[in-house]
Amino acid sequence: MSVNASGWRPERPANGGSGAGDATATFSGNRALMLDEALIFEIGTAETTGVDLDASMLDDGRGNRLGGLARTAPIGLPGLSEPETVRHYTRLSRQNYAIDLGLFPLGSCTMKHNPRLNERMARLPGFADIHPLQPVDTVQGALAVINELAFWLIDLTGMHGVAMSPKAGAHGELCGILCIKAALEKRGEGDRKVVLVPESAHGTNPATAAFAGFKVEGIPANANGRVDLEALKARLGPDVAAVMITNPNTCGLFEPDMKAISDAVHAAGGYVYCDGANFNAIVGRVRPGDLGIDAMHINLHKTFSTPHGGGGPGSGPVVLSEALSPFGPLPYTARTADGHIHLIEEERAEEFSNEHFGGKLDSFGRMTAFHGQMGMFTRALTYILSHGADGLRQVAEDAVLNANYVLRQLEGVLEAPFAHSGPCMHEALFSDEGFADGFSTLDVAKGLIDEGYHPMTMYFPLVVHGAMLVEPTETESKAALDAFIGSLRAVAERARAGDAALKAAPVHAPRRRLDETLAARKPILAWKDPAPVAEAAE
Ligand SMILES: *Cc1c(COP(=O)(O)O)cnc(C)c1O
Repeated sequence: MSVNASGWRPERPANGGSGAGDATATFSGNRALMLDEALIFEIGTAETTGVDLDASMLDDGRGNRLGGLARTAPIGLPGLSEPETVRHYTRLSRQNYAIDLGLFPLGSCTMKHNPRLNERMARLPGFADIHPLQPVDTVQGALAVINELAFWLIDLTGMHGVAMSPKAGAHGELCGILCIKAALEKRGEGDRKVVLVPESAHGTNPATAAFAGFKVEGIPANANGRVDLEALKARLGPDVAAVMITNPNTCGLFEPDMKAISDAVHAAGGYVYCDGANFNAIVGRVRPGDLGIDAMHINLHKTFSTPHGGGGPGSGPVVLSEALSPFGPLPYTARTADGHIHLIEEERAEEFSNEHFGGKLDSFGRMTAFHGQMGMFTRALTYILSHGADGLRQVAEDAVLNANYVLRQLEGVLEAPFAHSGPCMHEALFSDEGFADGFSTLDVAKGLIDEGYHPMTMYFPLVVHGAMLVEPTETESKAALDAFIGSLRAVAERARAGDAALKAAPVHAPRRRLDETLAARKPILAWKDPAPVAEAAE
């Protein structure tokens, strides 16, 4: 590790950036206005600090009141001056790709624009500065937001009830599956132990079912990328608790047999869980309740534009059918005739259950300590109200239109395995067929980084070889789509032609190809000072 005169730049890693012989090498390691940045442990010192604490603040004259817990040795945290601190974190932030920088084609993730109006509403002190343990009389506005959002979610999905507290999609899946488990146990059919999951499912589906104690079995897909209805029917029986189906599915295709699937599952005594993460494609057009679904999570952070990934937490409310609503988690909100909104906890559940669940309330328990992601609720409701019912319908239509535009514009360059079966929904799925020997989806992804784009989702769904899943969302203009399509086409053509230079991509990024498997399997999450190791070796 060497630090140059300006004191902040590390040596480039051997497998990374500009080394000798690299035509793009710079003395600083920076690339134009892309600034390299070392870890704070490498550039900071324990002697530097951005704040000066007055000695009197540390000892107010009344002696040490820490009861023997005062620190006896420095903790060795790296310090920087204030301007160095600001620059360090600003430089790091510039190495991140974000939806505010450009099109983010990550399939299944619905990386749409986060309207700034949402942010303004979420920052109102009455929503942002409250505490979940405040008396409910002092937070009626916040409870009204939760209650109104719940109303909209029920209305948009045609379902009976909604559990607002789950904190992300996968958490919502667990909520729905626990409702199913509770309903089966109540019926005395707790011995139904199998959950059927299509092969194309998101990994969270089988993980959720297994986590809840079920045995997972796959359902095959047909040649059109949809659930094989006959194979599913043949497998149904007294041991099947539920099926978990994503609709539109992870191939970006609508499951046209959904109602028939639900009817068959119900006739065999099971429940239907729908993974609703792709609701963006059908919001305002299709009501899952009409398709016979019993439970479905909604990713507010996908369909309803709340920032996610690096930008914010998820929120995964679960809409429930009449059969499952009594089993949903506490707490929930209820508005009484006098306009007052109550937060129904265990001790008051009986009092309110008559009104809401015909006296059958049988909650399986709680999902979280408090009531859910308030900031996300506020953003999602703002998004819903600012779009209105007609605007939400337009969201779905434009999302589907944009994806089909991408699909058709890349015809002849990228193989689309299911394009023969008609239009896609909100995402376009391609395979690596036709690439030159030795070239893969990974090479295309790395080439896209050089083009200035976050790569699309790769190698998912598993049912397609070298899958590339592109979800443009409705918030991209035609010009933005054309620019992205141009880049993807150029990179795909290089992969087809076997352009050896593509194997080195990314060449313009601060880092080259890293060992991603090692990083995922054996992440090094704590910094160790290399100096003592080097000294010991001398
Ligand atoms: C995003 C997603 C999930 C999981 O949602 P999280 O909020 O990330 O937990 C589940 N299924 C599908 C199809 C998804 O796209």
